[in-house]
Amino acid sequence: MFSILSNYKTANNVLLAKINKLKKAGFTISLQKHPLYEEYTLDKITIKSKRKTKHRLVLSSGLHGVEGFVGHAAIHSFFDTFLDTLNDYTEVIIFPTINPYGMDTHQRTNIHNVDLNRNFSKNDFSSENSKYLKVKEFVEPKEYKNAVTMNSSFYFELGKLMKQNGINYLNEAFLLGQNFQENGIYYTGTKYEPETQFIMNEFHTFMKTKVPLTWIDIHSGYGPKDQMSLINSQYEIDVTNDMIEHCDYPLILGINDNDIYDTDGDIIEKLYEIKDSKYSKLEFYATTLEFGTTGTGSIKSIESLKALIARNNVRFIEKNQNIKSYAIKLMKKQFAPKNDKWRQKANQDFIQAMTAILTYKKLVN
Ligand SMILES: [Zn+2]
Repeated sequence: MFSILSNYKTANNVLLAKINKLKKAGFTISLQKHPLYEEYTLDKITIKSKRKTKHRLVLSSGLHGVEGFVGHAAIHSFFDTFLDTLNDYTEVIIFPTINPYGMDTHQRTNIHNVDLNRNFSKNDFSSENSKYLKVKEFVEPKEYKNAVTMNSSFYFELGKLMKQNGINYLNEAFLLGQNFQENGIYYTGTKYEPETQFIMNEFHTFMKTKVPLTWIDIHSGYGPKDQMSLINSQYEIDVTNDMIEHCDYPLILGINDNDIYDTDGDIIEKLYEIKDSKYSKLEFYATTLEFGTTGTGSIKSIESLKALIARNNVRFIEKNQNIKSYAIKLMKKQFAPKNDKWRQKANQDFIQAMTAILTYKKLVN
C-alpha cells in the first residue's frame, strides 16, 4: 500500500535510500539537484535505459507541494512494480518534488504563494477572473483567537457567499485562478516561477532529442476518493476515446467539457501547447493522475476550501501556534491521508492505471 510519510525531510531520505538500493541492484540511476531557493532544490532522478533510448517516461509530483506525499508514495510503488518490467529502450526521468517549499511546509503553493498549476500560462497571465472579486475579502488573511473561532467564521461567511452567489459561481471564482490577490488562494502569479521555468526548459531539452515522450503528473485531493482519476488533456480527445475503449482502467477523463475546469496555467496543457508550436511532429502524451482523498460533492469541496483558506491564513498571520497546527492537520487530511483502506486502494489504482498506460504506450516487455 502507499506509504505516506509525515514530513519532507523523511520523504527525501527514504527516496535517497531507495535510489542507492536500486543502484546496488544494477540500475544506472542518478540524482541531480537543481538549486531553487536557499535550502530547496528541484530534484531530478534519471534511470538510464539498458539499450539505446527510444522512449522517455517522465513522472512528476509535488507541483502542489503537499500533494508530493502521495506523489512520493506513487513513485516508490512505481519503482517496486514497474522498473523491472520496462523494456530495455525506455529511459525514466522522475521529478519527485517540483515544489519542495510547498511540500516542506504543507502548502499547495510555492515560496511566492503561487499555485504552480496555474502558473504555466498560455496567455502571459492575462486571464481575468472577476468572480474572484466576490470572495477576495473572504479569503483575505485575518487574525483569529483560536481554531474554533476561525472555523465558525469560515462557515458563517461562506454561508453568506453561497446564499448570494450559489455554489457553482463560487467554485469557478476559486478554481479558475486569479492574478491580483498575492496573499489569496489559487494565485497564478504574474510571471513564470523558477519551478515552472525549469520544467519548461527540461521539456524543451527532452523534445530536442526527438525521443518520444510520455509524461505523467501526479496530484491528490480532488475527485472521488475511492477511484483515482486519470485525466487526459483537451489536446487528446481521440487518444482519450481510444484509451477508454482499449485500456483496463475505469475512470479515464478528458472528453467532456466539464471533466476539467477551463483554467489557464495547467502544466499538461502548456506542454501540449509548446509541443504543437515547436515540435509538432514528435510523439508526446501527457496525463494527470488525480488521487481523490475525501470524496466529491459540495460538502467535501467545502472542507478542501477550508483547509486551503486556513493554511493560507496562517501563512500570513502566524501568531497563533494552535491555529497553525490545526491548519496543517487539515492540509494533511485533505492532501496526504494516512487511512489504511485509502492507501491500499490508491496503490491498487495506481498500479492498474500505470499498467494500462505503459501497455498502451508499449513500454513494458
Ligand atoms: Zn494538485
